[in-house]
Amino acid sequence: METTTMTATVLDGRVIARQIQAEISEDVVDFIQNNSTVPCLAAVLVGENAGSEVYVRNKRRACERVGIESKLHRLSADTSEDELLTLLAKLNKDREVHGILVQLPLPPQIDPRRVLLAVTPAKDVDAFHPENVGLLVQGNPRFLPCTPHGIVQLLRRSNISVAGRHVVILGRSDIVGKPLANMLMQRGDGGNATVTVCHSQTADLAAITRQADILIAAIGQPKFVRADMVKPGAVVVDVGINRTDEGLVGDVDFDAVRQVAGAITPVPGGVGPLTISMLLYNTLAAARRLEH
Ligand code: NAP
Repeated sequence: METTTMTATVLDGRVIARQIQAEISEDVVDFIQNNSTVPCLAAVLVGENAGSEVYVRNKRRACERVGIESKLHRLSADTSEDELLTLLAKLNKDREVHGILVQLPLPPQIDPRRVLLAVTPAKDVDAFHPENVGLLVQGNPRFLPCTPHGIVQLLRRSNISVAGRHVVILGRSDIVGKPLANMLMQRGDGGNATVTVCHSQTADLAAITRQADILIAAIGQPKFVRADMVKPGAVVVDVGINRTDEGLVGDVDFDAVRQVAGAITPVPGGVGPLTISMLLYNTLAAARRLEH
C-alpha cells in the first residue's frame, strides 16, 4: 500500500514576535510623546535558579528592544516572605513602575499564592491575580496571560481560525492550560472554539488528541505527543520547554509529528518568543491605564 506523508508548515514564532515587537515599539514612542514618562516593568528575582535567570534576562532584553524601561530587583535565596511582600508593597505604590513581574518558582519558605495576591491587579502584567483571572473567565479581561495570549496571536497571525473547531489542550495549569481554554471558548473574535482539556488523569488520551483540529501541548513531558496521536492535517502548538541531554525539546516529537500535521510550532522558536512579546504588550497596556 502506498503511504503518503505530509510535511507541516512550520509556524515561526520568532518572525511573529518580531512583528508584534515592532508594533509595540511604535506604540511606546507614541506613549512617551503623549505622557511625561516611560513604561516601566519591575522584575523581581528571588534566589538563584538557572532557568529563571535566563527568562528574566530575555524579558529585560526584550523590554530594551521596544523602549520599555526594566528594573531588576534581585533578592537572595533566604529572603523571607515578609521581605518580599514589603518590596511588592513599595512597587505597587511606585508611580514610575507600571508592571510587576515576580519570576517563579520562588524558594520554599515563600508561599507563591500570597505573593500573587500581593501584586496590585493594575500592575499584574502576568495576569495571575485572582481578580484578573476572574475578569478573564467572565470574558472581560484586564490583561490576557502572556503564554495563552501568545498562542492566540500566533494562530491569528498565521490565519488559523479556532472558531467552531475542536481544540484539545494537554495540561490544566493555571499559567497555560486553564486560561487558554477560557480564552478560546469565549464568544467573539479569537474564540468560539470547542475546547477539551486533558491532564494526567485523562483516560485514553490518544483517542482524544486524534480528534483535535488544533492540538496544544503544555505538559512538560519531552516529546510526549507522537505522530499516531495527531489527526492528519491538524495544527500542533508545542508549549513545552524541556531541558534534556539532547538540548531543549518540546512536548511534541517534532520530527515525527511534522510528517502528519498540517502546521506545527518548533521548540525553541515557537511559543516562547510570543510569551515575552505579550508581556511587553501588557506592560504598555498597564502604563496607558495608569497614566490616564
Ligand atoms: P505544569 O504546571 O507542570 O502543569 C502540567 C500539566 O500537564 C498538568 O495539568 C498535568 O496534569 C499535565 N500532565 C503532566 N503529565 C501529563 C501526561 N503524561 N499526560 C497528560 N497530562 C499531563 O506545567 P506548565 O507550567 O503549564 O508548563 C507546561 C510546559 O510548558 C512546561 O514544559 C513549561 O516549561 C512550558 N511553558 C512554556 C512557556 C513558553 O513561553 N513557551 C510558558 C509556560 C510554560 P495534572 O494536572 O493532572 O498534574
